[in-house]
Amino acid sequence: MPAASRALLLLGAAHPDEPPGALAALPVGRRDARLLRLRERTLGPALEIETRCPACDERLELTVPGADLRAASPAAAPEPLRLDHNGTTVTFRLPTSRDLLDATDADGLLRRCVLEAHDSNGEPVADLGHEVRAALAQAMAEADPLAEVDLAMTCVACGHEWSDVLDVASFVWAEFEAWAPRLLRDVHRLASAYGWAERDVLAMSAWRRGQYLQLLDA
Ligand SMILES: [Zn+2]
Repeated sequence: MPAASRALLLLGAAHPDEPPGALAALPVGRRDARLLRLRERTLGPALEIETRCPACDERLELTVPGADLRAASPAAAPEPLRLDHNGTTVTFRLPTSRDLLDATDADGLLRRCVLEAHDSNGEPVADLGHEVRAALAQAMAEADPLAEVDLAMTCVACGHEWSDVLDVASFVWAEFEAWAPRLLRDVHRLASAYGWAERDVLAMSAWRRGQYLQLLDA
């Protein structure tokens, strides 16, 4: 499944009242802000990120509060957005999950998101040059910063500094993928020991489940 489909699957489970089309129409960064909120409420406030120093291969762990990342996401900017660059005016909207799933390449994505483009004489511009495209990508990133998260890293072993891109959708999916079997194991232990139904075990807070599990180990 593409990462965008996985993101929509998680959000669909968390927001059963929301029509799936509405989630697919969220700009990618705002979708990811929701994913971060979902993972904070389920898994806790901080993201534990593991990486390796590209200079010395030291294994590093980074703790990033999800709230800090979400704070980088501005309130919904009214769309469509506008860019003026060297006499070209572009009216555009931000890429959504639907765009990512339907577009086959970066050009296709751009074509979907550019609503209108004209030069200083008001003539339509069919082919945006390289510079305008770059400016457009920059403008999109600024309007929807969570769509591409750069984490500044410093190696504790050698002092090397670099930045890693955090793909929020893939990261959160991997966390849930690891978490689901652990939760099922907890359900299995509690259901076996107490005869409780799965839905009742799942309805408990993680804290309460943890307390019972400790009692089983005592
Ligand atoms: Zn290093």
